[in-house]
Amino acid sequence: MKKTIISFLLVMLSILTSCSFRDADVDKRVSVNEPETDPSSVSVFDETESSSTTESLILEESDSTDVRDSDTIDTVDTEPIRQETEPQFQNGEFNPKAMMYHLIMETPYNSLEALFVRPSTFESQLKYLTENGYTFLFADEWKTTDKPSVIITFDDGYADNYSNMFPILKKYGARATIFLISDFVGMDGYLTVDQISEMSSSGLVSFQCHTAHHVDLAYQDETTLRSEFESSISKIESWTGKSVSALAYPAGSYNDLVLSVASDYFDYCYTTKSPYIVTEYSPLEIPRYYMGRDLTEDSFISYMQY
Ligand SMILES: [Zn+2]
Repeated sequence: MKKTIISFLLVMLSILTSCSFRDADVDKRVSVNEPETDPSSVSVFDETESSSTTESLILEESDSTDVRDSDTIDTVDTEPIRQETEPQFQNGEFNPKAMMYHLIMETPYNSLEALFVRPSTFESQLKYLTENGYTFLFADEWKTTDKPSVIITFDDGYADNYSNMFPILKKYGARATIFLISDFVGMDGYLTVDQISEMSSSGLVSFQCHTAHHVDLAYQDETTLRSEFESSISKIESWTGKSVSALAYPAGSYNDLVLSVASDYFDYCYTTKSPYIVTEYSPLEIPRYYMGRDLTEDSFISYMQY
């Protein structure tokens, strides 16, 4: 009887022990897998270090050192790969704030009233930027600076950019980039080649690409994309004598094919997405603040301080 009881106890002990190791295996898998689901942070390793007493004991029973070493190696190995695919730019105090304007005009001439920023509003915005020491960069000059900077952009190349915007720009010594629709140049309501040439020579305005015909890029095949870019770039360069390396996607339309083809021609591409939503981005997807007619001075200042 005594023998039976002892053998029963031994069997029970063996079952309990095996259960305990099975639990240990489960916990080990969890702790090993954690870094793979989130390889981003060293804190995963820290969490393993500061794990509960139960888990520490389990780790001691199994080969805890190996488990933690392999965690560390996984984390270190996956970090560089992850960073290569990460956006290179971020919002920040000393990274330029890009702004998207269209027209500077007191009275709108069509129903898209929001596009028509009043001259007095534009002037007070430039006044704020100069008085607060902002550096004015062109769209092809995106870089981190040692003081706050802005990239003022105008899409489409409307005639008012010469008659209304350029005089205010000169008054403050500010700089702006105009994204031209190259085949619209010289048409009614758009800039002429002479105006483009004069503004470019002043050193205050850079002319960059907004395609040849303002096409919806996300719906074009590769041949059309290349034709739109090449035709526009060659015309603008012939008018200004300066190189074109920045693009604004018409209506903010693009997809993976557009990004891939655009990267053959441009160093910097600008979207219509808000920097409030896109805080990290690649040079091919730079967000811009929409500068509308009804933007209040407080909102403008909050953009600049974001
Ligand atoms: Zn446009």
